[in-house]
Amino acid sequence: SGSLFVVATPIGNLGDLSPRALETLKRVAAICAEDTRHTRQLLAHFGVERPLIALHEHNEDEIAERLVARLLAGESLALVSDAGTPLVSDPGFRLVRAARAAGVPVSPVPGPSALIAALSVAGMPSDRFVFEGFLPAKATARRERLSALAGETRTLVFYESAHRIEDALADAVAAFGAQRPATIARELTKLFETVLDGTLEDLRARVAADPNQRKGEFVLLVHGAGEDADAKVADGRRLYAKLSEHLP
Ligand code: SAM
Repeated sequence: SGSLFVVATPIGNLGDLSPRALETLKRVAAICAEDTRHTRQLLAHFGVERPLIALHEHNEDEIAERLVARLLAGESLALVSDAGTPLVSDPGFRLVRAARAAGVPVSPVPGPSALIAALSVAGMPSDRFVFEGFLPAKATARRERLSALAGETRTLVFYESAHRIEDALADAVAAFGAQRPATIARELTKLFETVLDGTLEDLRARVAADPNQRKGEFVLLVHGAGEDADAKVADGRRLYAKLSEHLP
């Protein structure tokens, strides 16, 4: 049979497409893409002319069957998403599962992912971390999810979009406490790349005050709950209690 290559593409800067990714995209019989218009632009930039097949959440199961038949017949295919690594908060898992179940070799062509890029510059413990992907869109579900994570000791990583970053930060302050250290990695590898850190309340206030900080794509990292964090909160409370004895 042929192989299915799972190919990472840039998360902004086109210079991040690897030579092997390019070579693979040129060589396969067809490229399965989340949004064919978006991928066609990327391919045009690199002079790749290969047939595109649309693969999104809604048609993945039925299309996977046909694609596996092509793979078994000897064609090699590539899978890409709009940006970064397929299957990471992106479609592809059903196709990969079907290909593996059919005994088709599935091979990664690794490269950019916003998750790893953000973790690599946040300066937070990264030996262990939890990737939570996108938070629920509805406020109640989002708050429940966050409060369930309040005791998590590993670094927490979330994906967020421009129109929800403000709400997400406000809910994170409520769930994790104003003083929990956090980092926002925005527009990584792009013109307006910005990495902000501070307490959750600092970040919430800065994003609320500056509309420019609400534009683009975001990764939100929250420091895990730890003895350190808890001890600092307790210290702060003790100090406040002492000071407030002297307040009118
Ligand atoms: N598969 C992609 C990856 O490997 O990173 C993620 C796809 S997910 C649908 C899109 C989300 O990834 C955005 O909403 C944002 O949270 C994050 N993201 C993608 N590109 C980014 C960038 N350049 N800077 C910051 N976050 C980014």
